[in-house]
Amino acid sequence: MAGRIRAEDIAAVKDKTSIVDVVRDHVTLRPAGVGSLKGLCPFHDERTPSFTVRESAGTYHCFGCGEGGDVVSFVQKVDHLTFVEAVERLAGRLGMELRREEGGSPGSQETVGRRTRLVEANRLAQEFYAERLLDGRPEGRAARDFLRERDFDRQAALTFGVGYAPRGGEELARLLRSRGFTEEELTLAGLVGRGSRGLYDRFRGRLMWPIRDTSGDTIGFGARRLFDDDRIEAKYLNTTETSIYKKSQVLYGIDLAKKAISTQRRAVVVEGYTDVMAAHLSGVEGAVATCGTAFGVDHIKLLRRLMRDEPGLEPARIIFTFDGDAAGQKAAMKAYEEDQRWAAQSYVAVAGDGMDPCDLRLRKGPAAVGHLVEDAVPMFEFAVRTRLARFDLSTAEGRVQAMRAVAPVINGIRDAGLRPEYLRTVAGWIGVEIDQLAAEAKRAGRSGDGHRRDPAPAERGPEPDSLEPTAAELAATLPRPDLRNPVVAAERQLLQVLLQYPSLVTGDDLVGLTAASFVAPAHGVVFDAISRVEAVPGMTLAGWVDAAAVNAPLSAQPLVTELSVAPLPTDIDPASGMPSRRYADSLLARVREVALRRQIDDAMALLRRLGTDTQSDPTQVREVSAALEGLQRRLAGLREEMS
Ligand code: ZN
Repeated sequence: MAGRIRAEDIAAVKDKTSIVDVVRDHVTLRPAGVGSLKGLCPFHDERTPSFTVRESAGTYHCFGCGEGGDVVSFVQKVDHLTFVEAVERLAGRLGMELRREEGGSPGSQETVGRRTRLVEANRLAQEFYAERLLDGRPEGRAARDFLRERDFDRQAALTFGVGYAPRGGEELARLLRSRGFTEEELTLAGLVGRGSRGLYDRFRGRLMWPIRDTSGDTIGFGARRLFDDDRIEAKYLNTTETSIYKKSQVLYGIDLAKKAISTQRRAVVVEGYTDVMAAHLSGVEGAVATCGTAFGVDHIKLLRRLMRDEPGLEPARIIFTFDGDAAGQKAAMKAYEEDQRWAAQSYVAVAGDGMDPCDLRLRKGPAAVGHLVEDAVPMFEFAVRTRLARFDLSTAEGRVQAMRAVAPVINGIRDAGLRPEYLRTVAGWIGVEIDQLAAEAKRAGRSGDGHRRDPAPAERGPEPDSLEPTAAELAATLPRPDLRNPVVAAERQLLQVLLQYPSLVTGDDLVGLTAASFVAPAHGVVFDAISRVEAVPGMTLAGWVDAAAVNAPLSAQPLVTELSVAPLPTDIDPASGMPSRRYADSLLARVREVALRRQIDDAMALLRRLGTDTQSDPTQVREVSAALEGLQRRLAGLREEMS
């Protein structure tokens, strides 16, 4: 049958179907706490029931095998059906006639490969955005000004496919629906979200860069904030992880850079979309940038494949340009530690005055960008010199401290053949004997001060001098929250309350809490997804949970479902049908207390570092001290309330 099922019909099927009735066709259910039912899981063998259904949330989750979802996914899994078939089956149950979209492309929507559909949707979106940038409408002026101020002309915009996402919020969704794309395809492509009022464009009022894979297919977007009243604070937004867009594996500009990377056997990693544009326009054609994530091992693999990095050839080179900011340096250092073979081939280029390639081209001309890249120094030298810069090498004490600071870098060189050479070089920079430095490095190695000291991600808070990680970044490495930790257990209960009893907690209760306030990264991601749900009058609980799940990255969606059904370890007041307000308050206080304590630790660590830095700015020291006092006062106040 031609045409796609209308989105509103799919929503109606979900609304009118009782998940409990459907599950009961397959599973015998017994009451388990207020509003929950339990039974033996149809998806794995078990003797004691861990399969839980919550009628009001419209969701199910098995605590044994982790399967979970809504009524459509249940029917899909239990009957081995496609999405469309499952919806049709449920509609049949209700005696409902499903209406089809007219004018969709011929054939069933499942005959075309999913990837092809998602790529096509992204291609159309790119065309739409590009047209809105260049068609001269007044609304796109801010975007055009942004480009003009950085000396990017119309031709540059066309070359890089830059565009503008209008502020209306529904135009792209409407266009793509009229071209026959289903709601499911558009949400899976990351272009459109599903809210309580229907479909809405993910990107609104932003300058858009299409992110393409090596074959030139557009698979996602980077989007820059243009307007002060943009409700999304983040300066840059990226497509969330989709089946075709994996941020750990994409590099912006790779489609245009791959030829140069392969023939010159040199890749230049810059920090942003405008830097990629500026570098290419300045003749540095092997320039690429990561998209909303740090440079990692998968990126190395991608570049290596392009550079034919084989034995016998002269080593290929990867050059990083940094504007000198700590986060960028740290990212490259991390990749350096992870991949030693690559380490010897990596170089760092830092503009003397801290300018990035975009600034350099603008203020000093295209040739300056070329010079920046030519003057790159080996990563090892950069790493050591960055550390040495903190010490006064004119004093004996300073030299000893400097040796200790660089010892881990030297110990990080796993290639024993390279070590003597590096030791000699570094000893010279510090002004000590080679033997002295070798002894210091040996001592550092023995005391276990190697490069593999990081605790497991699960137990690690945000690193003191890293920028606060975005929810999407956290989602990429979501370890299972460790519930033996009582704080993590409290976080879980708080999220359960937010999902299951949203009316118990008001927006005011949550002021100041962010994803970073949570110890378990997965909990931070779920909190972020919940806090972005727009509540509207008449919203059902199922609608609420659904919206939170849609906001969450794919990897965190099962956890949202799980928390929407997991029973709370507290009494439910029979009159209100909710846990007590006191219970919610105690969870909130617990999470806040830990978040404050961690902020205090970070501030104290920063003060210590500033204390050791001979060039630290006294104003900054005063500001950090004042902030620390404020945090300590808030913690004291909170503890008083809790007692
Ligand atoms: Zn199961």
